[in-house]
Amino acid sequence: MSDHLSRARRIIVKVGSRLLVNSDTGALNSEWLTSLVADLAALKGEGKEVLLVSSGAIALGRRALGLKHAGLRLEESQAAAAVGQVRLAQAYVEAFHAHGLTAAQILLTLEDSEERRRYLNARETLRTLLALGAVPVINENDTVATAEIRFGDNDRLAARVAGMVEADCLILLSDIDGLYTANPQRVLSAQHIPEVRTITPEIEAMARGPVSGISRGGMESKIAAAKIATAAGASVLIASGRLLHPLRAIDSPGKRTFFVPRVSPAAARKRWIAGGLSAQATVVIDAGAERALLSGKSLLPAGVTALEGRFERGDVVIVKNASGRELARGLVAYNLEEARLLVGRRTVEIETILGYRGRDEMIHRDNLALTGSAGDDQ
Ligand code: GLU
Repeated sequence: MSDHLSRARRIIVKVGSRLLVNSDTGALNSEWLTSLVADLAALKGEGKEVLLVSSGAIALGRRALGLKHAGLRLEESQAAAAVGQVRLAQAYVEAFHAHGLTAAQILLTLEDSEERRRYLNARETLRTLLALGAVPVINENDTVATAEIRFGDNDRLAARVAGMVEADCLILLSDIDGLYTANPQRVLSAQHIPEVRTITPEIEAMARGPVSGISRGGMESKIAAAKIATAAGASVLIASGRLLHPLRAIDSPGKRTFFVPRVSPAAARKRWIAGGLSAQATVVIDAGAERALLSGKSLLPAGVTALEGRFERGDVVIVKNASGRELARGLVAYNLEEARLLVGRRTVEIETILGYRGRDEMIHRDNLALTGSAGDDQ
């Protein structure tokens, strides 16, 4: 299992409120947070990119506001999150700074991972932060998320982010060391499951049960997250975060549950381009470009003969051949006005035509999924 960690290039770690905040006193577990950040810094030192999804805002903020009762109303949770999030961010900034690292706060709502343009924006920001060496620290934007647009739990949020940034490993740190055939606190004969290849209805049934304490995500939401993340190409690890240096501990023997990814992150992304988003505009290409596309190459402006419909940069467009057959879908690198100027032109001419360097391709092959009958997007 630690093998998967050592092979992973881009890792997301999700930590729950119960690990970060003392449920009796409501205080931040600073020693634990410091040891977690030291482990993340060590992974960065090995050349990996790391992202952290951290809960704890509501649990931290409620004490400061004197909200002691169970079952907070939505607006009370939101008020608590507003107070707790700034404290959480401060703790992370200081802890990462001690390792010479820059923490960046990203607060997301469900809509940011579903609505295309917001998704692309969030994705670009996260990728830029990673490229610049920062560590994104992510939480749900609790103060603005209404009941309808909440992820509700950070397990799912972390899984969506894994897909967004094409992470190859998601680690869910919890107060339990993985999945059991039944709730081990209640059923003595419950067996630990070290590896899950496919999330079957039986696996989902094992995870069902009441959620207790200050954290929202029980095992059920972890399995839901594992389903999303493995379909997006990430391996998923549910491990106990109870000890200090919880990531270092993953290298030593012990119980945890590993979920095998279903596809590679790149294949998952192409599947997403092919199916997930509604495409309205069309790019028509010539026979030479069609051959290039079918052999796995990018679409260059030279091969484009016509454009139909409206699109912005980053939109999904349908690519058709001269006889109108759909060949592929892809994220277009230019907006309609620019693309019009580039139709049929050679790549070397782009800079002169647009007045800036631009992309060499109209649609880069990484952003292109073959959808025609002869195609295979894998
Ligand atoms: N976003 C919530 C918080 O930071 C936590 C949600 C969860 O525990 O999954 O307090």
